[in-house]
Amino acid sequence: MAEIAKRGPLVAMIRAAGNGELPRGWLCLVEGETTPQTQCALLVETEDDELEEVAPRLGYPRLGLDTDTIEDIFYGAARLTENPSDDQLLRAFEYYCNHDAFISDIDAPVPPPLTEGQIADWRRNLDRQFYETLGAERELVRCQTAGCQRGAISLSLFCRPHHFESVKGKPSPFDD
Ligand SMILES: [Zn+2]
Repeated sequence: MAEIAKRGPLVAMIRAAGNGELPRGWLCLVEGETTPQTQCALLVETEDDELEEVAPRLGYPRLGLDTDTIEDIFYGAARLTENPSDDQLLRAFEYYCNHDAFISDIDAPVPPPLTEGQIADWRRNLDRQFYETLGAERELVRCQTAGCQRGAISLSLFCRPHHFESVKGKPSPFDD
């Protein structure tokens, strides 16, 4: 059964991990803004699927990271600066949480996670890049999609939008 092995402010937990003094478990945070002083609990003896249920009941609903990762975050920060400050450790922690990667510039502000709009733009760019590679439609070879009047591109049975659809598994956002 899950239990709390250690409680304390976030930055003290990160430092404990760096000193090898944080037992193996999952760090969970109270609700609210994340600061160096945000109260945390280290849950041990818990299965991953149990965690989401148990942590809120214990008053620490925000799931943080596991001990191994927090150790790595501390070492990553300590490599960049000899004695990382509380704010720098917080930044390294948040950077990992937001980007699933270790921070490379300890004093740079943590960029916010990509918004849904940015992710949509990025996908659309990738789709466009793919679409551009399809080349011209042939004059004399018809697209095999029923009812389609366009020509098939080279080495395909389909026109540009239908080739896109057959490869990407979704309708083409482009029809030029
Ligand atoms: Zn077509």
